[in-house]
Amino acid sequence: MMVRLAGASPLCAIYKQTIDRNCPGCKVYLIVTGPLHAHAARGSRSNIQMKFFDAVSDQEYMTVAMNDKYMNPGTRPLLSIPPEAEQIHDMIMIVLRQMRDAGYSDCINDDFRRLYLQAMELYADYQRITVKASGKTISCGSGCWICCCHYAEDIYSFEAEIISCSLKKLPAEERARIKKSCEKAVCALERLRPIVSEKLLLDEYRQISADIDADDILLSSYYQLKNRCPFLDDRNLCLIYAIRPLTCRAYINLGDPSVCPPEMINEADTSTYILDLNEEANDILDELHFRYERYPRDTSLCSLVLKYLSEGQ
Ligand code: SF4
Ligand code: SF4
Repeated sequence: MMVRLAGASPLCAIYKQTIDRNCPGCKVYLIVTGPLHAHAARGSRSNIQMKFFDAVSDQEYMTVAMNDKYMNPGTRPLLSIPPEAEQIHDMIMIVLRQMRDAGYSDCINDDFRRLYLQAMELYADYQRITVKASGKTISCGSGCWICCCHYAEDIYSFEAEIISCSLKKLPAEERARIKKSCEKAVCALERLRPIVSEKLLLDEYRQISADIDADDILLSSYYQLKNRCPFLDDRNLCLIYAIRPLTCRAYINLGDPSVCPPEMINEADTSTYILDLNEEANDILDELHFRYERYPRDTSLCSLVLKYLSEGQ
């Protein structure tokens, strides 16, 4: 893999090396624009970008901005939870405690699955009532898909296993297509990982590295690749909508959908929200995650599904 440079900064020299990435066949150029030293002297990180080029066609296919706004998405008021939504949350807690206390030996039996889906249906009510009380409306709708270019992380082990169990019932051809697509997504993320890590070693980014989790920066960078989730069909509908993970359900836009594309990730005034459950709910979900975990330290939708679908092959 070759690395190409633009810009006059001597600091660009850090990229004057051939980088051997993990993913054979992935051909990417990294190009750094902007006089890095001048911006550093002014204490500004603006105009520093990583540009990715296909090594064969030489077409640019991604730019990752690493500026201040990108790293500081700004603050926005949290949604307040009205009493009716609190009541729904109490019902979610009852279901989650049942899932925990029943002590099922696996997470793909009908009872565990039924309770999980019941909790997710209640979560939808909790979200709808909370948003309504805020006076806002959810912009998300059927066929709206750009947020599905995020690399779905932070999913629970049991969610991945339930999804995979359902995918195993699909025709072999469709399963193979999904597996291939998951492989592509995992590969794209792994290709990006060392590039972002190297970038964060620069003096320019030391403070950012200290303030923001490197994985979060990696995931934001992945979003800019605009890779479609392997579960989006050709009508832009989620193939696993009824059993999609909580992380997909929780991400909503309460304003103008034009802020959703990755190019807008720099904007501080974006109207996307994540409506979380309370601490006890999250503790129970974590406990269930570890109880049914079969691939430690993996919480990504694509790589977990890939592993589950590969079992027994
Ligand atoms: S978050 Fe944005 S892109 Fe995703 S469904 Fe909602 S409005 Fe559409
Ligand atoms: S699983 Fe479904 S909702 Fe989640 S990112 Fe993929 S297509 Fe979108």
